[in-house]
Amino acid sequence: DHRLDARFVMRWIDILDRLVVEAEPQLTEFDAAIGDADHGANMTRATCACKAVLGDVPPLTTAAAFSEVGEALAQYIGGASGPLYGAIFLALGDSVPATTDIGAGDLVAGMREALISLHNLGAAVVGDKTMVDAIAPAVAELEQLVSVGAPFPEAVAAAAEAAARGARSTIPLRARKGRAAYLGPRSEGHQDPGATSSALLFEALRLAVGP
Ligand code: ADP
Ligand code: MG
Ligand code: MG
Repeated sequence: DHRLDARFVMRWIDILDRLVVEAEPQLTEFDAAIGDADHGANMTRATCACKAVLGDVPPLTTAAAFSEVGEALAQYIGGASGPLYGAIFLALGDSVPATTDIGAGDLVAGMREALISLHNLGAAVVGDKTMVDAIAPAVAELEQLVSVGAPFPEAVAAAAEAAARGARSTIPLRARKGRAAYLGPRSEGHQDPGATSSALLFEALRLAVGP
């Protein structure tokens, strides 16, 4: 079935970069409403740095590709989101087998580790109006569908939809983490920028896995 190699990681990042560039005005607008209007710029810089660090020649293992991406995000990208996205990819790099390629189940298990790592760093839970509101339901959907034997592309498509729903679910919420939390009730009625970019992460995964 699905074997995911370092080229797959490069495809995922390439597609994410394209989606982030397309969505940059929206990410900027969302962060202007409840933050400091730099999430679009932070994310385009982030995906550009990831593409640069991966280069043209794939790393030897999927795990190495994830780790390179994680280091680039954690080290070079400012804002709250850089280290948080960095933690996701560093956890993926640490938890998947260090073999040339990995199985779909390895990626799913890695995504659970990534969510734990995100929580360990940012301490946000579902409902705090953060990236976690998109990522947690997406990981749950992925695990659930893979556990009942759904084809991987179907599971990833469902996860992408869950992430998009999760991002929209942040609109009425009051932020409890990050700079939006300082706004208190004035953060209500706006979609969280980080949850929006996290939905793009899963949409890019869907497109990278293919039909
Ligand atoms: P900054 O807020 O430093 O300018 P960004 O604008 O790039 O950084 O990212 C803001 C996003 O980071 C928020 O929309 C939110 O989704 C996410 N975020 C902030 N703090 C946390 C946290 N503690 N845990 C998870 N996500 C967080
Ligand atoms: Mg910001
Ligand atoms: Mg900022």
